[in-house]
Amino acid sequence: MDFNGLISHPEILLLVLAPLFFVCILLEWYLGNKSATTPKSAKYHLPEVLCNFSLAGLHQAADILAGLLVAKLYLWVFGWRLFDIEMNLWSFLGLILAQDFCYYWFHRASHRVRWMWAAHVVHHSSENMNFSTAFRQSLMYPLAGMWLFWLPLVIIGFDPNWVVFVVLLNLGLQFFVHTQAIGRLGPLEWIFNTPSHHRVHHGRNPQYIDKNYAGVLIIWDRLFGSFVEELQTVDYGITKPVNSFNPLVVIFSEWRDMWRDVLAKELSFKHPMAILFAPPQTQQTSSKQVKTRVANTDSNVQ
Ligand SMILES: [Zn+2]
Ligand SMILES: [Zn+2]
Repeated sequence: MDFNGLISHPEILLLVLAPLFFVCILLEWYLGNKSATTPKSAKYHLPEVLCNFSLAGLHQAADILAGLLVAKLYLWVFGWRLFDIEMNLWSFLGLILAQDFCYYWFHRASHRVRWMWAAHVVHHSSENMNFSTAFRQSLMYPLAGMWLFWLPLVIIGFDPNWVVFVVLLNLGLQFFVHTQAIGRLGPLEWIFNTPSHHRVHHGRNPQYIDKNYAGVLIIWDRLFGSFVEELQTVDYGITKPVNSFNPLVVIFSEWRDMWRDVLAKELSFKHPMAILFAPPQTQQTSSKQVKTRVANTDSNVQ
């Protein structure tokens, strides 16, 4: 398929990139097994890898189905666009920059609004970090409202097909930051989201929680005060572990807990909204729990 074909059907971009993802996974798995210094949390554990692949498949299927509706909405909104933007190299780069900015706020909201965290928690619930972690995505993103964050780009006047293409390109590029095999990348660390920055994002060490939301560019975190450097060894995962390799349990356990809280009998009418839109408790750790865990994992990063 040529580039124009891909722009007409941007929903298949991740499938087109899949062979490259699998080559990286095989290389990381093979080299990680050969090296004596590979941390346990970087190794591939078959039940989890199968869970991650299942989550990716379900996410892809849900995205393609929801995309049928979202595409209609985007096209309708596109009819009221503010500007007619012709796509060329410069407008493409402008779209990448604008979408990455929107991604930053989508990702930040996904951590700070429980309704959205219920979907995003799937990506964070692994206690390991390797390329297969990138495959942990939730089929609930369309319900959580991810598509809302790209709507401003369509309103400005970017063609919806190009918007979806750039959204998926951003997601595809993020595959490469899910690894412990790459250390620091020198000056690139100032501008781009790198494996080091994203390892921090997956940490449950108290100083790493809700930091480094970047998609492609780390500049947004530096600008908006959410940047933290990787100094202490990362303890991967969430503070309320899911303890399951069943994809359905991984996807729905936080939705179940959230509705349980909403439907709790003693709550007044006002509280359900506070539960759905307040920051998730799952990421707010008791200091005692954190101190115990950090005491077990604390050491300096090589
Ligand atoms: Zn996140
Ligand atoms: Zn990630």
